[in-house]
Amino acid sequence: MLLALDQGTTSSRAIIFDDNLLIQASAQKEFQQYYPQSGWVEHDPEEIWNTQYEVACEAIEKAGVPPVQIQSIGITNQRETILLWNRQDGKPLHNAIVWQDRRTSETCRKLREDGHEETIREKTGLVLDPYFSASKIRWLLDNVDGAREAAEEGKLAVGTIDSWLIWNLTKGVDKKHITDATNASRTQLYNIHTGDWDEELLALWNIPRSLLPEIVDSSGTCAETEVFGKAIPISGIAGDQQSALFGQACFQPGMAKCTYGTGCFILLNIGEKPMHSASRLLTTVAWSINGRLEYALEGSVFMGGATIQWLRDGLGIIQNASEVETLALEVEDTGGVVLVPAFTGLGAPYWDPDARGLLIGMTRGTSRAHIARAALESIALQVADVTKAMQDDARTTLRELRVDGGASVNNSLMQLQSDLLDVPIVRPSQTESTALGAACLAGLGVGIWKSTEQISKVWQADAHFKPEMPNSERQHHLNRWAKAVDRAGNWDKEDQS
Ligand code: ADP
Repeated sequence: MLLALDQGTTSSRAIIFDDNLLIQASAQKEFQQYYPQSGWVEHDPEEIWNTQYEVACEAIEKAGVPPVQIQSIGITNQRETILLWNRQDGKPLHNAIVWQDRRTSETCRKLREDGHEETIREKTGLVLDPYFSASKIRWLLDNVDGAREAAEEGKLAVGTIDSWLIWNLTKGVDKKHITDATNASRTQLYNIHTGDWDEELLALWNIPRSLLPEIVDSSGTCAETEVFGKAIPISGIAGDQQSALFGQACFQPGMAKCTYGTGCFILLNIGEKPMHSASRLLTTVAWSINGRLEYALEGSVFMGGATIQWLRDGLGIIQNASEVETLALEVEDTGGVVLVPAFTGLGAPYWDPDARGLLIGMTRGTSRAHIARAALESIALQVADVTKAMQDDARTTLRELRVDGGASVNNSLMQLQSDLLDVPIVRPSQTESTALGAACLAGLGVGIWKSTEQISKVWQADAHFKPEMPNSERQHHLNRWAKAVDRAGNWDKEDQS
């Protein structure tokens, strides 16, 4: 048995898997989001730990397994979210600053103006943005009373959520302050080429190295916890998207997955050499195993399943997300309607923060079914854009795209995706890829599986969607989409001038 702890942005979850990767029990608890000011998002670290501990106990109890039968624990977590705590008493100095938080935009803008963007990009594989942890750590040091002095004296620890959970899991025994390479690679303090914290980046962000955790492999026993009554090894750690890539068994270069949640996250395994992306996709650590780093290109779509939420909550044309499929199937096509859901700007490969949503091509005959269909198409088209850019950057052609996440249950969307991307789509039988990845990393770490090849054999496909759309039709869709995206671009800026 394996226990996966899946600490997400809105809830803490725990899942118990058996050795065939079947779910034996799970539990989930939501926790509070704090919005102290516009653009700020915080979590209470104690609440994160408490909910995570409670759901773990609940899952163990539901599964009816004695803790002694749990061979290992794997941890996966919301990435980039960061907190500062006191090494002596383990008390956080402030709420955790969540990845979505934009309070450090100004700091990032200044560094860009001072010409540091290229160094940061080259060393970390990331764009210079408040999204990542470094500017948030800097904010905590500069704004929490006494934090910088205490940090200089070596009294404080900083960590992403994996670090915080492990600190608490091991606090009674041998307190561990560690993180894995995937989480480290999202801080903007980690050099993806050397696999270590980078002195130049630390100086640039003015962050003392003594604050930082030790970096360990994503798979392999790195600590032991006794909080469940028996000593259990912790042998897997990965940030959520990397964990999903692992859980989808994308172990070979050229293999990719897309998670269709609120947003869509696409990761492509690029093997043992990091590469620079011409489309400004992120280069990130996929995992480190036996001291060997593997890398991935990452791209995301801001409005994925959230576009369907907008149909529900904004337009009110459906009551719940699952109705979108039936509604979209009432019509054969969008009737020429295109929706560009650039509600919060456009990410890769456009990178236009001033783009705004656009619904175009409507006629007197346009119905809500056409709009629903255009909304589904818009998700597939955005994913196709990112995936194409990724394939171009990596000079590879996908043999298939593996999918998971809440919206991947929608068969029409998956068929559209296959048609518009001209790549087969594969949906696994187990779509809890994120938790599954943590369990697989942990199982590999304690030798339940001897190699990733063995995990590949346990991984099972459930549904396949093959491209069926004629080339000319696909091209027509893509051309019309490109025209609409162009019209949605630069809108907010134009409006102000
Ligand atoms: P997250 O982890 O980001 O909260 P989930 O993986 O739980 O997201 O997926 C939820 C998202 O999937 C929501 O945005 C919802 O609108 C969308 N969704 C759920 N069911 C469907 C469906 N049948 N068709 C399309 N989108 C769906």
